[in-house]
Amino acid sequence: MEKSAINRYRLPVPRNLLERVDRTSSPAHAGNLRNAIDFIVPENTLVLAAANGIVTYVKDDSIIGGPNPIYWNFTNFVTIMHANEEYSRYDHLATQSSKVKVGQVVSEGQEIARVGMTGYTFHPHLHFQVFIFTRTNIWIDFDTVSVQDFIS
Ligand SMILES: [Zn+2]
Repeated sequence: MEKSAINRYRLPVPRNLLERVDRTSSPAHAGNLRNAIDFIVPENTLVLAAANGIVTYVKDDSIIGGPNPIYWNFTNFVTIMHANEEYSRYDHLATQSSKVKVGQVVSEGQEIARVGMTGYTFHPHLHFQVFIFTRTNIWIDFDTVSVQDFIS
């Protein structure tokens, strides 16, 4: 039985700009990323905090990306810690688009960055995942949990 998120999350992009929700097309959505969700939106779309929380990681200095796994570690991303030991993560962010800092308290719906094309990505979209840590390394020690519905 797949573990589902405990918290309720809102859509991390403006609904009127959302072209499509894609959970399965990306070859990266396997293993511990099997519950990741791609929100297909135009480049530079605002990225919104999916729930109240505290920012725990910000990387936005990468300038490269594209449709090749060699770019995997060049993704710009933000993570937010929420209640119930759940975290949300937002990937492929535009270079130097972060509006938040590590340790900052953020509210659901708050602008945190913009959609870009950094990291391993085929087209502009927001890669979103809710995860729990299994140990401490953010690159490998986590498991994603299922989010089926979003608060609009
Ligand atoms: Zn993805």
